[in-house]
Amino acid sequence: MNLRIPGPTPCPDEVLAAGARQMMNHRGPEFAQILRRVTDGLNWVFGSSADVLSITTSGTGGLEAAIVNTLSPGDRVLSVSIGSFGERLKSIAKAYGAEVTSYALEWGEAADPAVIAKMLDEDKSLKAVLVTHNETSTGVTNPLQAIAREVRARDRLIIVDAVSSMSSIPCPVERWELDVVVSGSQKGWMVPPGLAFLYMSERAWAANAEAKMPRFYFDAVKTRDSLEKLQNPWTPAMSVYYQMDKAFELMRAEGLEGIFTRHEAIADYTRGRVTSLGLKLVPVDPKFASNTVTAVWWPEGVDGKAISKKAREEHGVVIGGGQGKLDGKIFRIGHLGFVSQQDVKEAIDVVEKLMAEQKAAV
Ligand SMILES: *Cc1c(COP(=O)(O)O)cnc(C)c1O
Repeated sequence: MNLRIPGPTPCPDEVLAAGARQMMNHRGPEFAQILRRVTDGLNWVFGSSADVLSITTSGTGGLEAAIVNTLSPGDRVLSVSIGSFGERLKSIAKAYGAEVTSYALEWGEAADPAVIAKMLDEDKSLKAVLVTHNETSTGVTNPLQAIAREVRARDRLIIVDAVSSMSSIPCPVERWELDVVVSGSQKGWMVPPGLAFLYMSERAWAANAEAKMPRFYFDAVKTRDSLEKLQNPWTPAMSVYYQMDKAFELMRAEGLEGIFTRHEAIADYTRGRVTSLGLKLVPVDPKFASNTVTAVWWPEGVDGKAISKKAREEHGVVIGGGQGKLDGKIFRIGHLGFVSQQDVKEAIDVVEKLMAEQKAAV
């Protein structure tokens, strides 16, 4: 099966095998060593000198942890939303009682840092900015560094969903002065689902001390205090930690620059192939097209769902569909984590063939 959705992503055999290891005491010395190595790996990829927290949950749980650990009910926040995951982060904030001001763009567009700056200037009560780094539903990467600069200059918190970017495209949290940053094991990390990662800056920890949103399982203080003893507050997804440990060996061998360059090259190839087929990318400005997922409009008159079904059933190629209002209108090819140009080539060859067949049949 050629799994070309933007997460969960395929895992290397060594990573899968690492998950078959026997259980051990999750509060014992052997697991402590694994947790230390995995945390070192996270710090390396995030570009953090403080320990990045890991939580047993999916990416969305990580986003919930980001919100409840830094905000209070009634806090005013600016939601920057360019697609379905931007909407999700906004919904979490609302569910916990934040007062949300929206900067929502047409799906396919990237956020404009100048607009964010203006909105923050016009409303000094906005305490935090919620933003998706890489919007997986539209294949758009926001200019996060430029956005962070505007937020920092106005001394607000910046809370970032980097679930589908961290480890695949640059997102150095300290260099860009981000405050709260979340990722998840099943995206670019070459590991199955089960762990979310949470970085919090000094500013975020200061906000945490005042934050009144209810929290228990996701309480970052509990996780941080346990990590000091090289434990988790609750029983963690141990097998996924074994797998992260192995994945970091592979990632360190390739090097961060090597990983970023590979993602860039494969993304370039993907965009080149789909545009040469006469297809249109969902990102309006190619400058913001994602290096981890490519979203493409199905052409007028093409039954995209039928093509996706045939690709899966007859060719073993699984491509992503559209989320929310893009359902049936677009397809997405994930190219993050354990991926080669050949994987993408095979998938696009199949889409090309099936589109031609469908056209010939009508
Ligand atoms: C996948 C993804 C999530 C959510 O992850 P789950 O693990 O499904 O909860 C959040 N944000 C972005 C940008 C994603 O790509």
